[in-house]
Amino acid sequence: MKTALITGLGGQDGSYLAELLLEKGYRIIGAVRDVRRTEDSLPITLKNKVELVAWSMLIQEEMVSVMRHYQPTELYNLAAYSSGAGMYDDPVGIGEVNGLSVVRMLEAVREVNIGIRFCQASSREVFGESFEGLQTECTRVNPRSPYGAAKLYADSMIRIYRQHYGLFACSAILFNHESPRRSLGFVTRKITHGAAKIKLGLSQELYLGNLNACRDWGFAGDYVRAMWLMLQQSQPTDCVIATGESHSVREFCARAFTHLGLDYRQFLADEPAAYRPAESVPLVGDARKAKEVLGWEPQIRFCQLVDMMVDADLQMLKEKNN
Ligand code: GDP
Repeated sequence: MKTALITGLGGQDGSYLAELLLEKGYRIIGAVRDVRRTEDSLPITLKNKVELVAWSMLIQEEMVSVMRHYQPTELYNLAAYSSGAGMYDDPVGIGEVNGLSVVRMLEAVREVNIGIRFCQASSREVFGESFEGLQTECTRVNPRSPYGAAKLYADSMIRIYRQHYGLFACSAILFNHESPRRSLGFVTRKITHGAAKIKLGLSQELYLGNLNACRDWGFAGDYVRAMWLMLQQSQPTDCVIATGESHSVREFCARAFTHLGLDYRQFLADEPAAYRPAESVPLVGDARKAKEVLGWEPQIRFCQLVDMMVDADLQMLKEKNN
């Protein structure tokens, strides 16, 4: 039986990955900051099916002892820390957790068992204000936030450990990935939750920032499958994981409201505080390498994703208000 150690198990990606690996017969260890809190918030599909262990991203000795105890075959680092809408608050903490902690984990792998396979959830934030319209593994990196810079440092160290020590370590450069489990701070969930509330008469308006902002939005369940596939290959390699499609916030709204039989233009209001500095180049990923190397393709496309999120919010709000 394979054992997977997953940091950030309580988050969106951690829960989808754990569900996937349970289906595949893995033993799942969730390495989390607060065991009690994570236990209480686990989706029903994971309750009593995963083991949780306390883990600090800042203490290397603790990582070593957890790895010694559980002897994982695979380690997925899905824990990340961001702070503030522009991710400029607490740059030291962001650097610690998203950058240096990855090195702590790589060192722990070297100390406990060099055969543990390691997958890092990296981010399209490493490209920052990109120079190219379609971003691949070869696109020039240019992070514009402490978060992007920390993720880039982690990617660099993963490559260095792979080359220098022969570790099976790789980075999945993930573009935006959403789901009904996305937190309300992200625009996708804010829209689907807001639209469902309007449909049920619980709200009259939805306040948003720039409707013309574009993103490459995929489904989180597809993206964790790509991460698993990366660790099943004979050689470790980094891959961009994206849909290759760009859609605007406006298109997302239009689809969400139409799915509910409503016209979004009647319900939107402007929220000046939600505007960000203009982005010059749309963020779109080119996942051709993932397709060639892993045989990976997204199964859920834009419209299905929006509909799935709207339906889940509608259901959840109906249950809550009954
Ligand atoms: P991220 O910025 O890609 O990590 O994801 P978000 O979901 O926070 O934002 C995606 C895009 O939606 C950005 O370009 C925002 O400027 C835009 N956006 C427009 N209105 C809103 C809003 O009300 N909230 C958020 N979070 N983003 C908004």
